[in-house]
Order: sequence, then structure tokens, then C-alpha cells
Amino acid sequence: MASIEQIRLDFPVLDQQVNGSPLIYFDNAATTQKPQVVLDALNKYYSEDNANIHRGIHALAERATAAFELTRKKIQSFLHAESSDQIIFTSGTTASINLVAQTYGRANFEAGDKILVSNLEHHSNIVPWQMIALEKGAEVMVIPVLDSGVLDLDAYQKLLQENTVKLVAVNHVSNAIGTINPIQEMIALAHAHGAKILIDGAQSVAHMEMDVQRFDMDFFAFSAHKLFGPTGVGVLYGKRELLESMPPYQGGGEMIKEVSFSGTTYNELPYKFEAGTPNIADVIAFSASFDYLNSLEKGWVEEQENALLSYATEQLSQIDGLKIIGTAPNKIAVVSFLIEGTHPQDIGVLLDKFGIAIRTGHHCAQPLMQRFDIPGTCRASFSFYNTKEEIDRLVACLKRVVTMLL
Ligand code: PMP
Repeated sequence: MASIEQIRLDFPVLDQQVNGSPLIYFDNAATTQKPQVVLDALNKYYSEDNANIHRGIHALAERATAAFELTRKKIQSFLHAESSDQIIFTSGTTASINLVAQTYGRANFEAGDKILVSNLEHHSNIVPWQMIALEKGAEVMVIPVLDSGVLDLDAYQKLLQENTVKLVAVNHVSNAIGTINPIQEMIALAHAHGAKILIDGAQSVAHMEMDVQRFDMDFFAFSAHKLFGPTGVGVLYGKRELLESMPPYQGGGEMIKEVSFSGTTYNELPYKFEAGTPNIADVIAFSASFDYLNSLEKGWVEEQENALLSYATEQLSQIDGLKIIGTAPNKIAVVSFLIEGTHPQDIGVLLDKFGIAIRTGHHCAQPLMQRFDIPGTCRASFSFYNTKEEIDRLVACLKRVVTMLL
């Protein structure tokens, strides 16, 4: 296994000074950094293979098509999906969730139906459901969250028992506070009550293994940029019978079988949901993320990140007036915190002066901030390329920042 110093060299962006200090990148929940192999793949595609895919008969089009479809296969294998036809490319988690809301939701929701979302959701797993609920006369209901940041599973069961729930939409991991939700149990409960379930995997894919068949997922959505890949690529996995029963999302090239003015027939999966020229270059480059992850020792990422989480929690807790928001026993390496008498944004701006990148604000989870009655938090989110020394520097700089602010 390579040393952490060698691993960091694989991520060129990490090697820079920001405001006169070495960059410390603790904003991995917003987006992860890209290894050199992903950058090289992007460059190779544009320098050697650039062509539109699927319809071309020339060498470049064939090479580009093969590389594009290879990424689909790698995602199938990463998710342990039955078939690569069930892997649909979108522009991101947000687009994947909107696709399900606008096609599955429009075809299946009726007046009076209930859609359950949790109080831990990112706006992109709330608003698409509110929009379709409004259109169909359905109602969005909320699975409450306990003070620890853990979902209230008793309340979840009650909501399922007492209502005609059509669909549950819940994240695997909270981006704002890091809670890992017990999705296997939540999926089984949803199914036991006849509901379908969509899992937003945006924050889990970089941290844990996924098996959509073992978990019996109906829908699973994630973004490539949170998994060391490029921006502008998202994935929707769905069960075959669900995807086949769903009407197309957008109309255009690629998604059709035959078009005439007397009627149009639609393409097979997955192309039925992929209208227009897709994000070819970024999908192809995303392939290299899987090669990179597969080159790391199995289990090492989780081990490294858990060590960073424990260390950061322990060290940050020693700062006077610092309160961690979200203390679930099962968390990914995210620490959301507030420091008495200071505003998160001031902390973020001052840490940046020391070259430390954290995220501040509501993290696109305003209902969660409302639940805790806070304006937002400071969030440090770690990846396997971060180190304990970087956490030491965060703690030291935070202490200085607090004395500047108080
Ligand atoms: N869900 C969660 C839990 C997220 O963390 C994010 C990104 N912050 C999203 C959805 C949306 O992802 P994207 O912006 O890539 O569509």
C-alpha cells in the first residue's frame, strides 16, 4: 500500500499554497478532488478520441462509444447492479432525483398520496417532491430527526402504517451532519408497507460499498464529482420493471426508436432516459475514478476516514465553546460545528486566510437547520487523502480565529 504522502501526490490540486499557507482541503462533502488519472483520461479523450457517440461509424466515434459504455459497465459493477441497462446517465444527483419525480411521480402519484422525505435531506431530495406533490395533489410528509441527528425510526414506522405512502425519499448519508441512515432497514420497512424508495447516495458513494441488489433498492442516485470524478455526470440506478414502466423524461435525439409525425416510439433502456448528446468526456473520464479506487487496498479508505473522524471529533471538542451538531454513532467523516459567540461564516472566511477550506452555511439543508434552530454550521468534511496533521492545523487555527472574533 502506498504511503499517504504518495497518495496525496496523485491529487495535484492538493499541492498548492492558499493565502501563503499550504492548502488544507476539508470541503470534500461539497466535491472531492480528482486524481491525475481522471485528469489524464479527460485530456486523452479530447486530444485523441473526441467524437459524438452511438451513431457514428468511424473509428473515433467507435472508440468514444466504447469508452462511454465502459464507464456504464464499471458503474454497474460498483453498484452490483443486475445489468448496465439500469444505469442511466444524468447531470448529477439532483437531475436523477428530478427524473424520478417527473416520470415515476407524474405517472404514479394521485391526489391524497403521501411522499415521505426525512428531515435530514438536501434540498435536492425535498424540492422535486414538493413540486410534483403540488402538481398531483399529493402530500410531502417528514420523517423526524432526533437531537443526535439520527432519524426517528419509530416515527417512520408510524408514518408508513398510518398513511398511503407511495414513495420514500431518503439520503444514505446526511451531507450536513454526516449521519449514516439505516437504509437497509428503511428499505425493508418501505417495501413491507407497499411503498417504493429512492436512496440519495450523493454522500455515501465515496465512503462505503454499495450493493443495490442486496439492499433491494428501487432507485439509487449519485454524482460522479463526489466520487473523485468530473462534475456534470450523475447516475440513476432503478429496478428494471420500474424504469421500463416509466415514461421518458425529456424528448430528443437518442431516446427514440422511430420518429414520424404520426407518432414516435421510444428507445430501450437506458437510452430512453438519455435524450441528446450526453456529457461524453466527463463520463469517459469518470471511468478512471473506479480504476483509481480499485488500486487502493480494500477497506483502507474506510479505516483512514474513521481514524480522521475520531481524531477530529476528539480534538475539536477540546475547543472552548465548540459544539458539534450531529452526534450519531454511525457517521461518515464529517464534523459540523458551531462556536459560541461566533458566526459560521466569519470562521470560514478567517480559516481561508490560513489556507483551510471548510464549508459554512445551511449546506442546502435548511429544514435541518430549522430543526436545530441554528442559522447554519461550520462543516469540515474529510477524505482519505487528508491527514491528522491537517486536523491539528485546523484546531490551532480555529483557536486563533476565535480569539480574533471574541
Ligand atoms: N444530495 C446530497 C446528500 C448531497 O450532498 C448533494 C450535493 N451536495 C446532492 C444531493 C446534490 O448533488 P448534485 O449537486 O451533485 O446534484
